[in-house]
Amino acid sequence: MSAPLSKELRKKHGVRSLPVRKDDEVLIKRGFYKKREGKITSVYRKKWVIHIERIQREKANGASVPVGLNPSKVEITKLYLDNDRRKLIKRRAAGRAGESNKGKISQQAVEAAQLLKCPKVIGVKLTGALSGWASPKDVILKVASILTVKGGTGAIVEYFGPGVDTMSCTGMATICNMGAEIGATTSIFPFNKRMAAYLESTGRSKIADLAASYSGILTPDAGAEYDQIIEIDLNTLEPHINGPFTPDLGHPLSQFAKTVKKEGWPAELSVGLIGSCTNSSYEDMARSASVAKQVLAHGLKSKSLFTVTPGSEQIRATIERDGLSAVFNSFGANVLANACGPCIGQWDRKDKKKGEANSIITSYNRNFTARNDSNPATHAFVASPEIVTALSAAGRLDFNPITDTLTGSDGKPFKLSPPQGDELPAKGFDAGEDTYQGPVANAPAVKVDVKSDRLQLLEPFRRWDGQNLDFMPVLIKVRGKCTTDHISMAGPWLKYRGHLDNISNNMLIGAVNAFTGKVNSVKNIFTGVYGSVPDVARQYKAKGQDWVAVGEENYGEGSSREHAALEPRHLGGRAIICKSFARIHETNLKKQGMLPLTFATPSSYDLIDEGSSISLAVKDLAVGKPLKAVLKTSTGATSTFDLIHTMNEQQISWFKAGSALNRMKDLAAGAK
Ligand code: SF4
Repeated sequence: MSAPLSKELRKKHGVRSLPVRKDDEVLIKRGFYKKREGKITSVYRKKWVIHIERIQREKANGASVPVGLNPSKVEITKLYLDNDRRKLIKRRAAGRAGESNKGKISQQAVEAAQLLKCPKVIGVKLTGALSGWASPKDVILKVASILTVKGGTGAIVEYFGPGVDTMSCTGMATICNMGAEIGATTSIFPFNKRMAAYLESTGRSKIADLAASYSGILTPDAGAEYDQIIEIDLNTLEPHINGPFTPDLGHPLSQFAKTVKKEGWPAELSVGLIGSCTNSSYEDMARSASVAKQVLAHGLKSKSLFTVTPGSEQIRATIERDGLSAVFNSFGANVLANACGPCIGQWDRKDKKKGEANSIITSYNRNFTARNDSNPATHAFVASPEIVTALSAAGRLDFNPITDTLTGSDGKPFKLSPPQGDELPAKGFDAGEDTYQGPVANAPAVKVDVKSDRLQLLEPFRRWDGQNLDFMPVLIKVRGKCTTDHISMAGPWLKYRGHLDNISNNMLIGAVNAFTGKVNSVKNIFTGVYGSVPDVARQYKAKGQDWVAVGEENYGEGSSREHAALEPRHLGGRAIICKSFARIHETNLKKQGMLPLTFATPSSYDLIDEGSSISLAVKDLAVGKPLKAVLKTSTGATSTFDLIHTMNEQQISWFKAGSALNRMKDLAAGAK
């Protein structure tokens, strides 16, 4: 046992009433112990950290788990570990992870606590009530404009306040669904009657009852503390239109026309697209149809091309039964299959040529460059389905349905009334066709035609050979935004999703080369010849040469597209080094045996020139320890800097095995 902490430190940090061990010093300096009314408030929680570490040590030494831990149920639910700051935060957990049926802490909970990062909690306080043209989609568009696409990284976003109960359950789902756009770990609302009503209307009243009986743990504690609070008054919330090219560039509707003019964005609206998985609730469809009906009543149709993507078979069948699809058809809509469709780029767009500047507006979640139609010149904006419908009717991006008028077929101007729509269908949901096909019993072994260009069996990735990774060329140094769409484009490429080698031909083709400002053009540092990013990667791979890619902030934001991690690994990449990662992509890279590394000093990015190579001392790779990198620039000058990683023991074992799949195979074969 080390000596007690010095008096000075205890005094400085308000730790006065209990002896504290010297090795607590780091935690105290990081604010782990909080002074509150002159008492230590975190000592008990610190003891948990020590207990957990002891359990892990003893288990590693082959001992059985100590049984003396018998915390109160409440304490267990409040236990979270932050693997960076090792901070425990006192919040009510949704659920009682870690509590075994004997009230003792379970081994799984110990392991889970060590694997899980402890997110911050950002509170969004909603007051007032939505009305008129404002919708739940506008809440998340507003939040995105405040937090930006990376503002929710490492955080749970928790909505609370009196405004919550004024929103439909599906509206809350829309908000949470788009939480990925701000990088949030997850987004939550407290359980309420609107959720119960939705569960009941979808045949899940037992779940509603169960949730109601646990509402105490599904709602915030009185006086719950948040790391950050954002307040939104729903009474004054304006409809928002976000974009182009990023979902966090928010514009209140009243300012939008001015901005369109100022920025020179194409004001004519080519296409309006409503729907997608979580933006096609009955309420969304009903409110949009109410706009379309008003337009039809004045003898008009949609001026822009207009598409509707029902998010599920149930919604498709229900809006068809209730006549909403007929309204959309009369409005001139093309009602698409209930699938992702243009939301993920499955859109055989014919009205514009690639490279032709134009504007579209969607109710989808993302609008990154070329995501919907593979055309980088398309200015894609995001708004609620009802705003999309109104702007499509006008055929203008700069139309404001609150203040502007349309001209009916009788030549008279008219204004649209705010949309109306039922939250839930009065006749209940129609489940539609049952299209489920169960797995075939005794299925034969899968045979894949080697000539197929769409299917290919996966080969295990190469294992780490135990050596440092020396002089790896920088395949590309990316400048600016690099979403998973830049790393692995969708659209026409999606047909190759089952063929890793073929889809890898889209690797990083949308990313901007920081040295030249061009996309999909990088220099082979051995030959000096430029080629496409996948081609040069293949040239390195053919030589058995590993490489790295370098990026800026929030690398890999956007969807969780696994191919964005699989492709660089397949083409010989070993590490992605950037200023910061989007959370899901960082984890995906780890799973594929890649090293996701961030600059300890972001300005190290600037040291890398065209022709640079980087060596990584991976023999020293260890939990919580920065990795040394040696940079050799094109002039032969060398410099050393630290790279940070967030890998735990298990994830390091994935790197060593070559991938998580390899590691799982090893474990199944009895490896330790
Ligand atoms: S691409 Fe993603 S967000 Fe869009 S409809 Fe499909 S699942 Fe939903």
